[in-house]
Amino acid sequence: GGWEYAPAPESTDHVKIDKQYELFIGGKFVAPAKGGYFNTVNPATEKKLSRVALATDADVNKAVAAARKAFNGPWSKMKAAERGKYIYRIARILQERAREFSVIESLDGGKPIRESRDIDIPLAAAHFFYYAGWADKLEYAYPGRTAKALGVAGQVIPWNFPLLMAAWKIAPALACGNTVVLKPAETTPLTALKLAEVIQEAGLPDGVVNIVTGAGETGAAIVNHDDVDKVAFTGSTGVGRAIMKSIAGSGKKYTLELGGKAANIIFADAALDQAVEGIVNGIFFNQGHVCCAGSRLLVQESVADDVIERLRERMETLIVGDPLDKNTDIGAINSKQQLGRIESYLKLGVAEGAAMHQSSCSVPAKGYWCRPTIFTGVSQSNRVVQEEIFGPVLAIQTFRTLEEGLSKANNTQYGLSGGIWTDKGSRIFKMTQNVRAGVIWANTFNKFDPTSPFGGYKESGVGREGGLHGLGAYLNLES
Ligand code: NAD
Repeated sequence: GGWEYAPAPESTDHVKIDKQYELFIGGKFVAPAKGGYFNTVNPATEKKLSRVALATDADVNKAVAAARKAFNGPWSKMKAAERGKYIYRIARILQERAREFSVIESLDGGKPIRESRDIDIPLAAAHFFYYAGWADKLEYAYPGRTAKALGVAGQVIPWNFPLLMAAWKIAPALACGNTVVLKPAETTPLTALKLAEVIQEAGLPDGVVNIVTGAGETGAAIVNHDDVDKVAFTGSTGVGRAIMKSIAGSGKKYTLELGGKAANIIFADAALDQAVEGIVNGIFFNQGHVCCAGSRLLVQESVADDVIERLRERMETLIVGDPLDKNTDIGAINSKQQLGRIESYLKLGVAEGAAMHQSSCSVPAKGYWCRPTIFTGVSQSNRVVQEEIFGPVLAIQTFRTLEEGLSKANNTQYGLSGGIWTDKGSRIFKMTQNVRAGVIWANTFNKFDPTSPFGGYKESGVGREGGLHGLGAYLNLES
């Protein structure tokens, strides 16, 4: 079937998580040179899931050397159509193992199984399918130009969409003939390690993809390695800035996908029920751990009370709890540290003078949870309006004229995404032309597809991933 199809996981019985995971280097699982390990825990239970290898410089050197050898050897010499077949195989195996991947993603990261099952895993497979198709068609993407692979790509990803972010990074890199060293986030390493099994099963030549696990130091060792030709980073703006500084002058190519503080903008003529659904999806999807989350709501003054009332009612129906329960809307916060960050923003919002409202649902005693939360009575300079909270917390403001809405929407350091809700087509065009963000949705939100480019303006990042644009990030183009 197509990539939309992924069977529903009914129990965790068929899912096997090993007690310990090693590094995937040169096509084999190998112990870390210094023998260090860290734990990954289930944020819904606080129980340990597995011990995972901690890669140090020596391991990163070995992974980069393996990637270089594969690049100089089989991978870049192979016919492009053959490369495409390997990438197709990864996609097919991911589909076959979709249940297992969905359950592990929810166990390791806390996201509702409905989301891992219907979005994360099928969309990850879709990226491999999409880029597999490009492998032998690059000359059509760049007519009259010679497109050459860059070499070894060093890729570092965050914890909010662990497998999907790995797919965004690995699929285009391979399609263009590069080899890869990828580091998943320290709180969600399991599906990347399972992907390493898929890569073995698909029979890719040794060293084409290497997965090394660890925290920020391991990531820094990858991006700063002399033999890495391209850096692809997704994560916070702070770390992105540090990476940009550290590789400045190195000649490395880079793409940075960073933070966001997107506004959903509701005009008075919008279909309000539909808009409220979009707002709920925009901020509560994946616990709000979404770079393009609609974490600000700008609502036209004449309908503001009505919208806020509808939103409060809808929030009461959201179920917070066990990520493996198919009825769950909001799962566990990814880590204790992230919960602490969110809670400090809740205190801050109140201290800044905003009115905080949370839904009245109960949450489990163990685990990391945050009830859906809205702030009203905020002002533009408040930190809860300006800074990325990365949790289920929405800041609500009002506006009177289109110009005022636009100016508030653009008044942050970020520019990743935005949502426009109105019945009037010309207003949609006017807003999409003037909201300074890489992705703008109209009368919908959080729609993703491998054919569409994604990326930010301002401090939300550099470069585009996805679609045809995503290929250019992994090629040297000569005319
Ligand atoms: P983070 O920046 O703390 O970490 C991201 C990754 O970088 C992790 O794998 C981490 O181990 C690694 N890392 C940390 N310090 C490093 C260093 N000095 N050098 C190299 N690597 C280092 O971000 P996070 O908390 O994991 O993720 C949340 C952030 O990611 C949010 O800001 C979110 O908006 C952003 N994000 C952006 C996109 C996008 O496409 N724009 C997508 C998802 C998440």
